[in-house]
Amino acid sequence: MRPTPALAAGRRTVANLLSATEWMLPSPASQVHTISVLPSQSPTSRHEFAFSNLTTSLGNGGGKGVEEGSPRFHLVRDDLLHQLTNGNKARKLDALLPLLRRRGATDIVTCGGCQSAHAAAVAVHCAERGIMSHILLRGEQLDVPTGYNLISLMFGNVTYASRSLYAQRDEMLYEHATKIAGSNGTVMWADDIIGEDLVVDEDTTYYGNCLRRVMIVKEGAGSVQALLGVMRLVDYLSGMILFGQDENVHIVVDSGTGTTAVGLALGAVCLGLQWRVTAVMLADTLERYRQQEKSLLSDFEKLYPGIFHRVVENDTHGSLVQWVERSSPRRFEDRQRPRASVGGSHAVVGPGEVLPSRKETHRPISLESTSTIQPRRQRGRKMNQPG
Ligand SMILES: *Cc1c(COP(=O)(O)O)cnc(C)c1O
Repeated sequence: MRPTPALAAGRRTVANLLSATEWMLPSPASQVHTISVLPSQSPTSRHEFAFSNLTTSLGNGGGKGVEEGSPRFHLVRDDLLHQLTNGNKARKLDALLPLLRRRGATDIVTCGGCQSAHAAAVAVHCAERGIMSHILLRGEQLDVPTGYNLISLMFGNVTYASRSLYAQRDEMLYEHATKIAGSNGTVMWADDIIGEDLVVDEDTTYYGNCLRRVMIVKEGAGSVQALLGVMRLVDYLSGMILFGQDENVHIVVDSGTGTTAVGLALGAVCLGLQWRVTAVMLADTLERYRQQEKSLLSDFEKLYPGIFHRVVENDTHGSLVQWVERSSPRRFEDRQRPRASVGGSHAVVGPGEVLPSRKETHRPISLESTSTIQPRRQRGRKMNQPG
């Protein structure tokens, strides 16, 4: 179907918006791996899988191991975006952090569970940009910090919050931010940067009088500016040779706050792609996910009314994402460790750590898999070992 002139204009506006945005990540590129399902050669297994790295095989016609015509799916390896942070967490900060910086943020306050990948991402990326991060983690300090908890401790100012305090999240965040701001500083919610001109640079010395300018980012960066980074990923993926403009791509993604799923779906609609997004609900009820979708879309409408009315409203009738229950429950063998996987049977395209086999699927990121901090750990081990 040919888009109407209004739709086409709307899509050009989206492309302009993405190219005018200041990003945190130097490039939107992600590796895409292709898994083919082949008929089994062995009586003991039902399927065999062949693997190829599409990103490196582009241009030489498909790549080794992928059989033409066999069923296949692709994995977006956003887990490889950064050594210390999870892919979709970095995507959600991609437009948000530069925006907060431009608004003069000296300090950022956010919160998460004890092993929050979001909290770790905020800590690391703030440290990279010279912003102080203040992380409120639910529960108590671990005896031996591991995984994302350790990363938050290394790069951010971590405070532990009791479960009862954490239950009143907004009050907790605001109170903490007020303390950091002190009597001369200011506090602002990142979500409140709406309806202002986001593209124009601001003179940050304007805030020179305030000692501190503290900005609050919601848990999981579940706010509208987080959508832009995910839309940027869709834009990148749509430019890859394997996905033709008219191809019906079906994206399957894990959902915590649901922000990534909404960003993917919104990106597809705004860029005029016939893609659909199925989101596997992990953390909440269907009603809450629908509510989150509505609230993000309504904030998007406030921020970009032109795009919304020309493109989104027409195409979607208010609902972009197909929310589905997970078919098998998630297992948490060790609650102290990060959730670093996208659900096995559903993984077609996922934003995070995607590991191939069932056994591997739930393997948490541990010190051993984080190469930059491995040497220290090995030294420690040697010292403890007799002989
Ligand atoms: C955080 C996370 C999600 C959930 O993202 P939301 O935007 O909160 O829905 C899904 N998968 C992985 C691997 C994650 O780290």
